[in-house]
This record gives sequence, C-alpha cells and structure tokens, in this order.
Amino acid sequence: MFKTKVKRWAAIGTLAVSLITGSLVVSGDEAFAADCSNGYVGLTYDDGPNPSNTTNLLNALKQNGLRATMFNLGQNAANNPSLVQAQVAAGMWVGNHSYTHPHMTSLSSAQMSSEITRTQQAIQSATGSAPKLFRPPYGETNATLKSVEAQNGLTEVIWNVDSGDWNGASTAQIVAAVGRMQNGDVILMHDQYQTTLQAIPQIAQNLASRKMCAGMISTSTGRAVAPDGGSTGGGGGTTNPPSTATRTEAESMTKAGQYTGNISSPFTGVALYANNDLVKFTQNFTTGTHSFSLRGASSNSSMARVDLKIGGVTKGSFYYGGSSPAVYTINNVSTGTGNQEIQLVCTTDNGTWDVYLDYLEIN
Ligand SMILES: [Zn+2]
Repeated sequence: MFKTKVKRWAAIGTLAVSLITGSLVVSGDEAFAADCSNGYVGLTYDDGPNPSNTTNLLNALKQNGLRATMFNLGQNAANNPSLVQAQVAAGMWVGNHSYTHPHMTSLSSAQMSSEITRTQQAIQSATGSAPKLFRPPYGETNATLKSVEAQNGLTEVIWNVDSGDWNGASTAQIVAAVGRMQNGDVILMHDQYQTTLQAIPQIAQNLASRKMCAGMISTSTGRAVAPDGGSTGGGGGTTNPPSTATRTEAESMTKAGQYTGNISSPFTGVALYANNDLVKFTQNFTTGTHSFSLRGASSNSSMARVDLKIGGVTKGSFYYGGSSPAVYTINNVSTGTGNQEIQLVCTTDNGTWDVYLDYLEIN
C-alpha cells in the first residue's frame, strides 16, 4: 500500500526514504504509521554516549523514524549525563554495558558487581531510572555473571546478527546485515563509526520495504518486540497507562531485619542497614505490569542500593548516591496479579547505616 506523505522534511535523504517506502508521516519526527506486519528487529548501539558521535546518531535515527537500544558504558554515562538524557528524549531505550568495558568473565564476582552497579547508578542519576537490560562486553558471559545480572534485576542481551562495524564493515555491509534480520532478531552496532551512522537511512528503507519495524528489546526474552508506546529511560519500557498511583509510606510497612527503624529526618520514614534489612507489605494487583517509584536517600556519601523484590524475586534495584532525597523509578515491572508481597531490601554493605526510605509509589 502507498500512503500520502503529509509532512515536509528538511532532509532530502529522509524525503527519499519516505517516498520510496510509502511511510505515512503523521506528525512530529517519530510518528510513522508504519507497516510492521512482518515483525520487529532490535537495533542496538554500544559503547556510548560520547560527545563526538551520539548527537549525530540520535538525529539520524529520529529523522528516519527509528528507535534503538543504546548499551551505554557507565563511565561514558557519568561523563556525559546530558547525552544519556538526550538518548531518552529521542525515544531510545538505555541499557547497561558495564562501567569500563572489561572482559567480565575474567573478573571476580565482586568486580562484576561493581562494573554493573556503578553503571546502573550513573544512568539512573542521569535519567531517573536504572536500566533493565545488560549486554556484556564482547558478548562474553558465564554463570557467575548471570547471577550478578539477576541480582541487579537485569536481563542479558547478546545479539543474533553482528553488523561487523567494529571490524571495518562498510556501510553497504552494515545495511546488508540488517537485511538478514528476522522478527525478534537483535543486531550489534556501535555509537562510534561513520559507516554505522551513514547506514541509517538505508536501514530504515530496508526495514520498511520488508514491512518490519525497529522495536524494543523484551526484558523477559531479550528479543525484539513491539515498542510499548512511550519513552523508556530505564531501558525496559514504560508503564501501562497509569490508573491511580498507590503510595505506601515506608514507616507503615512491616519492618524486618536486625536494625530497621523509624526516622524523622530527612523525612518521616525508615532507615535500613545494609545487612539485608528490609520493609515489606502486601499489594493487590489487578493488572500485571507496573512502575515502582521509591523516594529515598543515602545516609552518607556512599552509594546505597535497595532491591525491589516481588514474591521473592528481584525485579530491579534503586541506587541512592547522596544524602539529598530523590525519587527513582523502575518501569515495566512484571508483578503478576492478585496479592503479592513487596519487599524493599537494602543490599549494599559499607558498614554504616545505609539508606533512608520515604515512600514507594506504584503506578
Ligand atoms: Zn562494547
């Protein structure tokens, strides 16, 4: 089918793509009424963000109506928080790709944990929510790493198709690699190369000609699926349309653990010690996916980590990097329906009182 193009484009390259593919541009830079009847592929760009390429990459993706998952390095996110925010603002999903890009499988469990949690914290500081997807550098993984990923509520994402951009592939070769992708496949690319950047208009054209679309990566399967309709700062998709937010004050939750106690400063709430102290309560869910926003603060300058457990399963972690209270959100959490026990567990251990919790809000 061939539809009418209704938006004026500044970029001639984009104009050509729109005319060739017959995409109907409704309004704005991202609103394409595209034909996705043959499914979704996951475009991924690793090792960013960086000041020399990321802005160009985001502009090219937006101009061509593509969304992608950006597997950021924690050190780059910490050095360029505004670029992480720009990724989210451009409609991209943000994942964790370690802090320093080591060979993870040669690290100890504690070192793996440091690589992952520092990156979660850096991205959460920039965007307000921590990633739910992790791609190990070089695609190297093992059972220890998988365990650390699970402790952080992360889904491991490797790839099915390698663009070879890191190995000198030409733009034509990168486009050809996308041309081999089938529904659900995930391709490896990088936020770094001119060849990769220049492939974007042809990638958009190739996918449209095959009635395929760029999708998000499922946190349950690690495969590409249809976007769920919104921005996904945490890398896991947004929530369902919110009903009414349910706020539960920490001081009204059931306290467990050796040192858990009430506090009145910096807010009325509870303090949890890092020895797996926790608060918990039972929540009834009528739908199976929700977002969880937790207001808290570290008790000192050290990072505090609080795991969100539902029915005994870790669904993600909140990281508090300082003593100023802040609200952080974990999106797209699968909760199941009916009564579920919600636990907030302090799991960082630096030998002092670690975290103050104010309230948890569920949307
Ligand atoms: Zn990498």
